[in-house]
Order: sequence, then structure tokens, then C-alpha cells
Amino acid sequence: MTTKRRILTGDRPTGKLHLGHYVGSLQYRLAFQEEYECFFIIADLHMLTTKPTKEDVAQIGQNARDIVLDHLAIGIDPQKTSFYLQSAVHEIYEMHLILSGMVTVERLQQLPTIKDMAAAAGMEQMPYNLLGYPVLQAADILMPRAHLVPVGKDNESHIEISRQIARRFNNAYADVFPLPDAYIVGGTLVGTDGQAKMSKSLGNAILLSDDSASVRKSVMSMYTDPNRIRADIPGTVEGNPVFSYHDTFNPDKAEVEDLKERYREGAVGDVEVKTKLYNALEAFLEPIRERRAFYAEQTGYTDQLIYEGTQRAQEEARQTLIEMKKAMGLTGVWNRIRRANERRQKRLAKA
Ligand code: ATP
Ligand code: MG
Repeated sequence: MTTKRRILTGDRPTGKLHLGHYVGSLQYRLAFQEEYECFFIIADLHMLTTKPTKEDVAQIGQNARDIVLDHLAIGIDPQKTSFYLQSAVHEIYEMHLILSGMVTVERLQQLPTIKDMAAAAGMEQMPYNLLGYPVLQAADILMPRAHLVPVGKDNESHIEISRQIARRFNNAYADVFPLPDAYIVGGTLVGTDGQAKMSKSLGNAILLSDDSASVRKSVMSMYTDPNRIRADIPGTVEGNPVFSYHDTFNPDKAEVEDLKERYREGAVGDVEVKTKLYNALEAFLEPIRERRAFYAEQTGYTDQLIYEGTQRAQEEARQTLIEMKKAMGLTGVWNRIRRANERRQKRLAKA
């Protein structure tokens, strides 16, 4: 029997997923699940780096369920993926501490991603856990001894740190970890406002769980060429979010080309362009809604999946940590002390 190679992927449980997530990562997860065994981390400890309040923590449970349901809805097969709650796998905390000796503070401080995250969260000083974000990420990746980690381009430097940590551990003690490879995924979807990338916190997102009425509303109020105040004024297609969405979600390429041509000539109204986009998005979202309804009907199913996936991850993490401590000789130190003490207790009992 050949065992499948493994993927580690996941999200911070900060809310429901949207079309931008689909474009930037979900579509790759769908493709990968056929070939790999997938560990899907619900990274709540990572969330604590920028969202640590009690109110934030109170959201984790519902957000975790929503994320799992979003994944089932797009077609992720629960037989092929273990969804697990990071904070419930205590070996990850232990691994994090051991691995933190394999990277320097200077190396972490040089990462632009960490500075950007601190700035985005409005932090003036760097919390220790935010600086250590890539070390915790290394623990996440090395826990199931993953081979491949699909991430966006901006996260590539973090995977490089995971590789370095794995390499250092293997060289210092014994070959425990495969060196994880980054698989760069990507593509960015602009928001419906045309101003920034789609983000749930910017109010420019179409959620995978939105109903038809909200999708229609979002599409009909989408930003287009602002100079085009009448349908007979030639418009700009490049950088126009309505056309980027058509390119991404409308499989009828002939229809899209025809709309673009007429738009450039000032021979089509916004309503027609947007109605056709709405139809394309609905065709994309309809099967997603059907699967969502199917799974949502089974009350408690997402909790069961997270529970079973977390148990699976706990067992996996236990094995990895045992291997690590054995390789380091830590297990031996403790065992010798434990046995010596047992002998002493026996002697004392006899005397
Ligand atoms: P927030 O508003 O809280 O930042 P968000 O909606 O931007 O949330 P994140 O949690 O920041 O979502 O994104 C997680 C990951 O999803 C990103 O690292 C990226 O890979 C992908 N992603 C998010 N938004 C987009 C987008 N608009 N286009 C492509 N990929 C995206
Ligand atoms: Mg974001």
C-alpha cells in the first residue's frame, strides 16, 4: 500500500468565505484533494495574534462551523480532508517551543509580512506571538509531516522558514521531517467596489453563502467605469471589476467578448452587462448552495467533522512529538529519571 502525500492547508476562523477566497485558494484545494491527503487547520491560535479579545474568541466556534460548511459546499470531500481545531491539539504548542530554537529573531524581524500584519492590526509594537507567527506555522506544517503547502505568494517566505526549521531539526537530531514545499497559488479578486481586493471587512465581498437577492444587489451596485454616465458612451473594459468578474466566472467566452466589444463602442447598457454577470454568478453559486443545503440539513454534522478531524490530528501530533523527543533524546532523559525513582521507591518500601 502506498500512502498518499500530505497537504497542510487552512484558514484563520475570522468569518465566512467569499468569491475572493475561491479565486485565491479554494479552487486549488478542490483540485488537490484528489491526489493528496489533506489536513485542514482551523488556525485559531494564529487568529489570537491580531484578534485576541474575549469577544474575538467567542466567535471562533461559529466561524469554524461556517468555514467547514463553506468547504463542503464547494465540493471538498470530508472523506479526504481532516478539519481540525488548532487550539485543541496541545502538541502543537509543545512543538512550537522546541522549534523556536531553530530560527533567529533577526530572521523573523526581516519578514515584511509580519510588519504588514502588525500595521494592518494597528499595532505600534510587535507582540511576541506575532513575531513568532512563522514558527507556529512551521509547527502546523511539520505536525502532520506535510509535503506540500499551498499558499499565496506573500506567504512563500514563511514556508521557506518552515523548511529551514525542518532542515535544522533533521541535521541536529535525526531525520524526522520531510522538507515541505510551497505551492504558490493565487490570483486576486477585486472587491465589488473596484477599490481594493475583496475582503469581508471592507464590505465589498460576495459571500459563497449569499442568497440570490443579495448577489443581485451586490452585482447591480458594482463599481464600473465612472466616466460612462450613459449607455452610448464608450467605456473602459480593462480594470473594470464587472469585466474581471465576467472573465473569472462567466464560462461563455463568446458572450463576454461580445459584451466587451459593445461596451467599448458604447453599444450596451450597464444593466445588460450586470444582468449577464448576475446570471453567470448564479450558475456558479447554485450547485454550491445545493451542497450547502444538503449538509446544513444534517444538524451538528460540521461539529462532528471538526471533532473527528481534531481527534485524528491529536493522534498524528502525538506521534510526531514522540518522534521529535526520541530524536532529541529528551524521552530518554525522563525515562531514566522515572525508572531510577521507581527503583528508589521500591528500595524504600522494602527497608
Ligand atoms: P479580512 O477582511 O479580515 O482581512 P479577508 O476576507 O481579506 O478578511 P483573509 O482572512 O485576509 O480574508 O484571507 C485569507 C486568505 O484568503 C488570503 O491569504 C488569500 O490567500 C485569500 N484571499 C482573501 N481575499 C482574497 C481576494 N480578494 N482574492 C484572492 N484571494 C483572497
Ligand atoms: Mg485580508
